[in-house]
Amino acid sequence: MKFDKYPFAPEIKQSVEEAGFVKPTDIQYKAIPAILRKEDVLAIAQTGTGKTAAFALPIVQMLFSQLKYSEYIDLKCLVMVPTHELALQIAEVFRQFAKHTPLKVICIFGGVDQDPQIANLKKGADILIATPGRMFDLISQGHLNLDRLEVLVLDEADHMLALGFIRDIRDVIKHIPRKHQTLFFSATINMEIKDLAYSLVKNPLRIQVSPKDPVSKNIDHSVAFIKMDDKRFFLERLIKEHPESKILVFVRTKVRVERVFSAMERVGIVTLTMHGDKEQQERIDTMNRFRSGEVKVLIATDISARGIDIPNVEYVFNYDLPDVAENYVHRVGRTGRGVNKGTAVSFCSPEEQTMLTEIQEFLGKEIKVINLSSEDYVEIKGQSEEKNSDWKSLMKEAETWMNEKAKKKKKKK
Ligand code: ADP
Ligand code: MG
Repeated sequence: MKFDKYPFAPEIKQSVEEAGFVKPTDIQYKAIPAILRKEDVLAIAQTGTGKTAAFALPIVQMLFSQLKYSEYIDLKCLVMVPTHELALQIAEVFRQFAKHTPLKVICIFGGVDQDPQIANLKKGADILIATPGRMFDLISQGHLNLDRLEVLVLDEADHMLALGFIRDIRDVIKHIPRKHQTLFFSATINMEIKDLAYSLVKNPLRIQVSPKDPVSKNIDHSVAFIKMDDKRFFLERLIKEHPESKILVFVRTKVRVERVFSAMERVGIVTLTMHGDKEQQERIDTMNRFRSGEVKVLIATDISARGIDIPNVEYVFNYDLPDVAENYVHRVGRTGRGVNKGTAVSFCSPEEQTMLTEIQEFLGKEIKVINLSSEDYVEIKGQSEEKNSDWKSLMKEAETWMNEKAKKKKKKK
């Protein structure tokens, strides 16, 4: 069924059309009718499958259809998200669908002055997108009133519930009218988190799309075994092989982000960096420059792994493996979004083997291996524009390492 057959107001159908959406995705097809029926929903669907519109569209429809009965603006919907970037992005999606309606959407998050946000809240809004820290602050200061709330959404629900906010969330729920709708959306979920979700609502309708493989089939993902000290040469090579592509590189720590940035700078590659220590305004500017394609490579920590929807990211490189197995799914999920295809390559050093095993257990399958011969290995190192030691010793070093690896593999078998 196409969107023009949906029970949406003409104002909303028009914005759906303007967004270029013709047919719902699987998760939208399943979740929208349930949400319109005011059911509580726990929705699990792979990255990039349009979960945002799956909740934003029916919410905008429900709130718009009630408008004629309300005299003033009430805060009716609260969407909780883990990061500032995601808050802005989701607010944009709501604004897109609400643009031919009078519904007002606002955003609050930490790291910036709270006064303008308080002023905005005073002016009133129908839909609020918030990160938890600032939101709990504003509630405790009495600036945020949830007395009239009807819908609570937890996007990236497993992460939101795992962040240690569960007590605060329970507190918030005490301030919300008893009869409200709760929606959980995520690409990953585990038993423990599911129990937490079920402790917040009685009988949520569980909607799960392609649960077997958490990685979308649009993503071709593989792993290459590369020593820690050599990773920069391989990254240099991969970036130079794809000069026109938008590339997202994930690194384990803030310090390593800056180190990789410098290593790329030394070989003439311009990159952007993103991590939790950056000022909010810098974070916004960085995302804009990457989004627009002005700079094609972004080096980031896991802060950018969740939910971020940047058009046309063709490659995700895991320079380091993530510390938390499910983050693998979220990182590689920054590519291959919507109908696009994407490629992800992870660099795994000997120290990271255990992590790789954990990730594969989480995925329930092995990740395809890119076989590098010792010749390839040396060639890639040798071609780096970084000044290099002599070719022969490099060759020997690589061969020894490859042999050791082969031996270990045999032993395992
Ligand atoms: P998720 O939250 O599942 O990771 P998003 O909601 O961020 O995914 O959507 C991924 C991309 O797919 C977005 O760029 C969005 O505009 C696009 N998209 C979503 N639904 C549709 C649709 N029905 N038709 C076309 N594109 C869509
Ligand atoms: Mg999402």
